[in-house]
Amino acid sequence: MRYFIDIILPIPLQKLFTYCITAAEAEFLKPGMRVAVPFGKSKIYTGLVFRIHNEAPTVYEAKEIHQILDETPIVNSIQLELWHWISKYYMCTLGDVMRAALPSAFILESETVVTRSSLKEVDESLLKDDEFLIYEALHHQSSLKIHDISNILDKKNVLPVIKRLIEKEAIAVEEEVYEKYKPKLVRYVKLHVNYSSEEALQDLLDKLSRAPKQRDVVMTLFSISATTRKPVKVSELSNESKVSPQIVKALIDKGVLEEYYIQTDRVQYSGDENEASKNLNEHQQTALKEVKDSFKNQNVTLLHGVTSSGKTEIYVKLIEEVFEKGKQVLYLLPEIALTTQLVNRLQNYFGEQVSIFHSKYSTNERVEVWNNVLNNSAKARIVLGARSSVFLPFKDLGLIIVDEEHEQSFKQFDPAPRYHARDTAVILANIHKAKTLLGSATPSLESYFNAKQGKYGFVELLHRFNNVLMPDIELVDIKDKHKRKRMTGHFSDRLIKEITEALDEKQQVILFQNRRGFSPIVECNTCGHSPQCPNCDVSLTYHQYRSQLRCHYCGYNMSMVQDCMACGSPDLDSKGFGTEQIEEEVKILFPDAKVARMDLDTTRGKYGYEKIITALEQQKIDILVGTQMLTKGLDFRNVKLVGIMNADNMLNFPDFRAHERSFQLMVQVSGRAGRTEERGKVLIQTYNPYHNILQQVSTNNFIDMFNEQMNDRYNFKYPPVYKQIKITLKHKDYNRVENASIWFAKSLRQFFGNSVLGPESPPISRIRNQFHKNILIKIPKKQSLAKTKEAIIKVNNSFSSIKDFRSVKVILNVDNF
Ligand code: ADP
Ligand code: ZN
Ligand code: ZN
Repeated sequence: MRYFIDIILPIPLQKLFTYCITAAEAEFLKPGMRVAVPFGKSKIYTGLVFRIHNEAPTVYEAKEIHQILDETPIVNSIQLELWHWISKYYMCTLGDVMRAALPSAFILESETVVTRSSLKEVDESLLKDDEFLIYEALHHQSSLKIHDISNILDKKNVLPVIKRLIEKEAIAVEEEVYEKYKPKLVRYVKLHVNYSSEEALQDLLDKLSRAPKQRDVVMTLFSISATTRKPVKVSELSNESKVSPQIVKALIDKGVLEEYYIQTDRVQYSGDENEASKNLNEHQQTALKEVKDSFKNQNVTLLHGVTSSGKTEIYVKLIEEVFEKGKQVLYLLPEIALTTQLVNRLQNYFGEQVSIFHSKYSTNERVEVWNNVLNNSAKARIVLGARSSVFLPFKDLGLIIVDEEHEQSFKQFDPAPRYHARDTAVILANIHKAKTLLGSATPSLESYFNAKQGKYGFVELLHRFNNVLMPDIELVDIKDKHKRKRMTGHFSDRLIKEITEALDEKQQVILFQNRRGFSPIVECNTCGHSPQCPNCDVSLTYHQYRSQLRCHYCGYNMSMVQDCMACGSPDLDSKGFGTEQIEEEVKILFPDAKVARMDLDTTRGKYGYEKIITALEQQKIDILVGTQMLTKGLDFRNVKLVGIMNADNMLNFPDFRAHERSFQLMVQVSGRAGRTEERGKVLIQTYNPYHNILQQVSTNNFIDMFNEQMNDRYNFKYPPVYKQIKITLKHKDYNRVENASIWFAKSLRQFFGNSVLGPESPPISRIRNQFHKNILIKIPKKQSLAKTKEAIIKVNNSFSSIKDFRSVKVILNVDNF
């Protein structure tokens, strides 16, 4: 009998690939283990075993695997079931899912490594200088990587040298698969054994009497080891003895101290003892009871709790109960808020049992969390993570919490899998027979609709904790203010007055502007030209701080121009405004206030965001100007006033969800005001104060917003009433993508008639030199989604068999956001 395995390769292949294995390997291998396999002419990939069987492939001869990489599976059967669901539902390959799911360190890379050829002696005199350097280096080291060779020769392009050496048979090239993950080693010190006797030690201290700092270090080492009886870190020693690490190093060099390494987890919690969770007030108690009741006959429940109602404390109670049953918890949060306040709060309650997992973590840190979850270790009973944490190897989940469930960042936009983490979480929980709690002050229409339909349980919490009043929201008509000359820059007299008062009372202010940069568009007053991105169909944004024009789609940048690029006129003007310009204006209007800005530009790096939050908490900032980053579940004690600089650019965004999102953004950002006794104030500046959404925001009327928006969704056949799949075609040649998309839409219409919309050019029709065309399919709830997808795949297959269209990229986006 012959044995085969189907494996998932981390590349977008439509089908799994089959390799042959021996009987012994078949005995040993299990689904979820990794194997190194040859692929194509010379590549080596890491594949994941999906199925073990005896059926030889019919179309090709199965190759043998190179090597088995794991002793036990690193991916469990529940995960494979989830991967399968994602690939079917979101119309992508299992390879796409594998890439997204595994930390990249698990996907071993093939990298070129050269070794000295053992075949024959080389006449060194025949080697050129650079060749000799490499050859010589290989006498000291058994192998070299390409970048080592670059370093030795101090140049980038070393392939020609390597090629010559191979031709001279001086070296050989091999492809080596290696483990990328390296555990972190911590440096410890101890006294050298030579000084273990008392006399030797006394001798040493005498000798060091003329080097008092070094003597201090030795004494400190002694006292730390005596009290803690634990290994002493180098960093700890230099801190405790208040000397620079150089002095410790001098002692190591002298042979007085000895250093050694111990492998540790990178992600460590060093906090105080756990704190008891809070007693819930009566509203919270009722809500908690209702959630638990609804879980008796619902797998998913939506908790609609106004901002600052104390939802988190309810989650904490639920988590405690799940822990008592020995099960794991996944706590999903939108990307950005992760690193700060909530982490601290949960760590206060659950200490070391909390693991954190998100995109700013290094691959090594991710591997550690992965392994802790895989082993159901006490360190990862609860994982607090962004969307990709749905891919962790949970064994026994009891509960998934999706906090701020309305956030669009739960949906992955690019690359595939284009999954929605909230919806994927519901599936994951079902596989585990666990419950899912969705929480938000501004639920998505999708979830609220599901709750109204009885598909999800529903619980409301409409009182703020401590009965703090909801903020007082005032709309400011800036059209009228302009007319009556009551505007200074982008600030109405109302806003200036309120800011002045807040500052006088030593309260903090948040100003919200939905755009970063200085003023998005620079326009020539003579000819009307504005500088465009050469790769995308958008105007460049002016960033004053770096004196640059930047593209927010592809990152292209150039220095700010002095004269118009089209006509040469120096008369340039700016249109629209961003966070940077607001910051400038605030500084001029309130020269004594401490002003900071929070947007993509100021929060790069792992702790960029945290620094600003901490500064605000510690009241080192009086006025914070920011983009929607400000809206994400932050809790500040002293923010009295929130100003929304311009509501109109959100409302006018060309997207069917623009109104829903504007409502969510404005309510969330308003929720940052007045979280303590004093009532918060919100000012919304707008040209259109009678807009229904603004009225609904100012009266905090979620229900009206929901009903009105749902009306539109019914009328125009949008989600959540209809499902939708968006198909995007991309190509650098406009005519080709146009013809291709017309063909595609026409073929789809044969199946779906006028449920197919487009092709249409999106508002920004060219990005990174690729022209885009969109086709939209609206699918009634009663139409089978599976059948619909089958038809799309059929069309797509015929499409790719047309020679002219083969180079056109097709992107399928299910439930596009
Ligand atoms: P939400 O998540 O609904 O916006 P939070 O859970 O952040 O609300 O609660 C708002 C504030 O009220 C927080 O500072 C929190 O510590 C406090 N809080 C909530 N519930 C309690 C409670 N039962 N006892 C004491 N403080 C509470
Ligand atoms: Zn001009
Ligand atoms: Zn661009």
